[in-house]
Amino acid sequence: MSQEVPNSAEKVNTAAMGEIFEISRQIKDVIRLEIGEPLFTTPEHIIDAAFKAAKDGHTKYTPNAGHFSLREKIAARLNNDYNLNLYPANIVVTTGGLGALATSIKALIEYGDEVLIPDPSWPVYEAVITAVGGIPRYYQLKSENDYLPSLTDIEEKINSKTKILLFNSPSNPLGVVFPAEKVKELVAFAKEKNLYIISDEVYEKLVYEGVHTPALAFDTDQRVIGIYSFSKTYAMTGWRIGYAVASEIIAPKITKLQEPFTWCASDISQMAAEAALDGPQDCVETMKMVYQKNIEIARNILDTHNIKYQTPQGSMFMWINIGPNNSGEFCKNFLLKHKVATTPGVSFGPTAKGFLRISLVSKPEDIEVGLKRLITYLKRYSILKEE
Ligand code: PLP
Repeated sequence: MSQEVPNSAEKVNTAAMGEIFEISRQIKDVIRLEIGEPLFTTPEHIIDAAFKAAKDGHTKYTPNAGHFSLREKIAARLNNDYNLNLYPANIVVTTGGLGALATSIKALIEYGDEVLIPDPSWPVYEAVITAVGGIPRYYQLKSENDYLPSLTDIEEKINSKTKILLFNSPSNPLGVVFPAEKVKELVAFAKEKNLYIISDEVYEKLVYEGVHTPALAFDTDQRVIGIYSFSKTYAMTGWRIGYAVASEIIAPKITKLQEPFTWCASDISQMAAEAALDGPQDCVETMKMVYQKNIEIARNILDTHNIKYQTPQGSMFMWINIGPNNSGEFCKNFLLKHKVATTPGVSFGPTAKGFLRISLVSKPEDIEVGLKRLITYLKRYSILKEE
């Protein structure tokens, strides 16, 4: 395939996490710490609402932007949670947060434009930007800055083709929650540089330390697009339902792009999402408490053996330093020898080779056994001194 085709399917790299996933499926009794989805089944009242909706005939196409009633509820809950001033016209319901990301990026770029993404970050950013004809450009998140974006580091990557600054808080894989001041600074910076912002906030409800601040709170001139999802908040990954929040100028462009990609999000899932917003919210707290407990279990084990890691302030992941090892080989061999699946840091960006990510959504006993095996494996490779 010729180099002049920047969005060819061949260029979309989806292999990064795939190998571990594939191998782990073939091994019996594997401990799975690589999965980025809640362990829980969707709360029962949401499933019941979906059953009812299907029986009532919610089995059709819907408007491209989603049911007006759902968009009303989403706008109301964001206004309530974050003191925003949104209307249904600002909301585009999509097939997961990923559908919102893909169509928002596509709506904002021309072929060959560049999108700035964090290193490390969710590997699908690189893939989705490439898939819609853009060029991903990494800016580094550094431990000396507490893994918060530095304006100097971002500025170095800007050129005449740069159109979007993407950031993610609470973040995958780092678990960092941006303080309000940082979010404000980033929005002001984007204004100065005339960049759009895509703020991926799909983990907004999984915050253990600090407070989540949406980038939309500081948007003065319609350059921010917020990306949200029901996947993580309500354990609804398989329902494929999320949304983009944008100005009255950009939201119609994102809406227009629903038609050629998917037409609309599933009717049944949209009704389930309404039930999620209308219903009791204690299910979110319950799940959060389990993840929080898992963080404590993981920290105790890692601290005992002096392993460096990033304490998650939010999201559902822990970022663990494995020293000079190459995480690609390391995670594969660790899986084959000790039957524990983890995600290699190398999947998350160019500078993340010496890290791996574990998910905190597994059973506590799996976290414990999985991390103890990790310690054994690290010791065998002389990365840890024997006590
Ligand atoms: N953004 C981040 C950072 C994620 O980790 C994920 C999923 O893992 C998504 C967006 C998309 O989630 P979904 O499409 O299920 O809403």
